[in-house]
Amino acid sequence: MRGRTTRVGRVFHPGEDGYDAERTGFNLAVDHRPAYVVSAAGSEDIVRAVGQAVDRGLAVGVLATGHGASVAAGPDAVLITTRRMTDVTVDPGARTARVSAGARWEHVIEACAPHGLAPLSGSSPHVGAVGYTLGGGAGLLGRRYGFAADHVHGLDLVTADARPRTVTADTAPALFWALRGAGKGNFGVVTAMEIALFPIARLYGGGLYFPAEACADALHAWAAWTGSGDLPDEMASSVLLMTYPDVPWVPAPLRGRHVTHVRVAWSGPPAEAEPLLAPLRAVGHPLLDTISELPYREVGSIHHEPTEAAAAQDRGSLLTGLPPAAVDAVLAGAGPAARAPFVAELRHFGGAYARPPRVPNAVGHRSAAFSLYTGADPAAGAAADALHEAVRPWGTGGAFVNFLGVGDAEAARLSTAFAPEDYTRLTELKRTYDPENVFRVNHNIPPSGTPVP
Ligand SMILES: Cc1cc2nc3c(=O)[nH]c(=O)nc-3n(C[C@H](O)[C@H](O)[C@H](O)COP(=O)(O)OP(=O)(O)OC[C@H]3O[C@@H](n4cnc5c(N)ncnc54)[C@H](O)[C@@H]3O)c2cc1C
Repeated sequence: MRGRTTRVGRVFHPGEDGYDAERTGFNLAVDHRPAYVVSAAGSEDIVRAVGQAVDRGLAVGVLATGHGASVAAGPDAVLITTRRMTDVTVDPGARTARVSAGARWEHVIEACAPHGLAPLSGSSPHVGAVGYTLGGGAGLLGRRYGFAADHVHGLDLVTADARPRTVTADTAPALFWALRGAGKGNFGVVTAMEIALFPIARLYGGGLYFPAEACADALHAWAAWTGSGDLPDEMASSVLLMTYPDVPWVPAPLRGRHVTHVRVAWSGPPAEAEPLLAPLRAVGHPLLDTISELPYREVGSIHHEPTEAAAAQDRGSLLTGLPPAAVDAVLAGAGPAARAPFVAELRHFGGAYARPPRVPNAVGHRSAAFSLYTGADPAAGAAADALHEAVRPWGTGGAFVNFLGVGDAEAARLSTAFAPEDYTRLTELKRTYDPENVFRVNHNIPPSGTPVP
């Protein structure tokens, strides 16, 4: 891969100016207090930081944006931050982009837009592109094209021996398989990746925000619509159930109300969208309707997710389907009457997610039909756990790596994201590439032979 960045990074020790800002990410529920922080400016900084950490017997954690928090780095660890490595280079002819470790999706989207191209980004442009892709990556074009991890051409990686490697299907097939879906921090630090881009300049999408009275109708209608099997793969959708605070930054019609936010993103011809949306429109008048044609660079407006850092105890599970009884279970746990102290989000999977990629990777549970994600104030995490329990009869028994949160930190939970034989293979690869489990500040894959705590 071309053009490695070579600049000088910075090191921050506890008590020094900048240490607190550098160790802090989006999810404040995880309070990193490492021995020191290396703010990397290029791949050489990362090579050096990993080498020094190993020499000193320290673990290594990676922080890009902090959207995928898991466990905190303590005094036995160095935290490498990549937020300064935001270079993105687009090759419009090849329809590829080379993305540096710390680039957020917004950086990639901006670089691609002038060429009428889009990456397989997710609902929030503020999420880190590399961390997202290593964990699978399920975005608003996913039912059409598959997981982001399915469209990676190569990765530059620094392994526990402090060696930089270019990992492709040809140079290191087993590692390439593992990194795409199970790569979040476990096998090394990715300094850059090369990904495929897609000819998407515009979407037809937005949100229908329904009031509490329409919650049950909206959720049942959405579940029937997505569950019918008739929706084209170009249609992505999800539903968020939440009670908005009564504060000025919330749009006036939503303030202080329980809202059922149905989001759609149609990447087919705009004229075909509205007839497809008829079952959702039939629910009734929403409090707010933001559905329109929009440039892909405004994709973040569809889910309209928060951008301010906050503490969240998040958690994810996957469902095989959403029949009426499952919808009722979600309503009982997160509908208006539940007064749930958390947000609950259902996303429609299926389509290209279910199809195997051209080059196999570690992404598990491809046949899952829906995901359920909850985010709670850390004090209310147990209430959200109860919802995951309530839908267990419709669960795949597993999880999607990117939607595993702070509430999923134990090793046994990550293992459920993969087919059992794939998990065994991952632990064996971990033993090959990181036998001492240097990279353990994450949803961890222990090296094979390690007793499970
Ligand atoms: C608001 C919000 C919206 C989201 N939307 C989606 C979505 O639509 N689809 C989806 O699939 N996921 C989504 N996610 C989940 C998100 O993609 C994952 O949590 C992802 O891992 C975040 O990566 P990050 O680098 O931004 O976060 P970080 O917390 O900085 O990183 C998460 C972990 O990824 C690993 N990592 C990061 N960078 C590297 C690197 N360079 N090398 C090796 N390991 C690395 C590390 O283990 C790190 O602990 C969302 C999360 C939030 C909070």
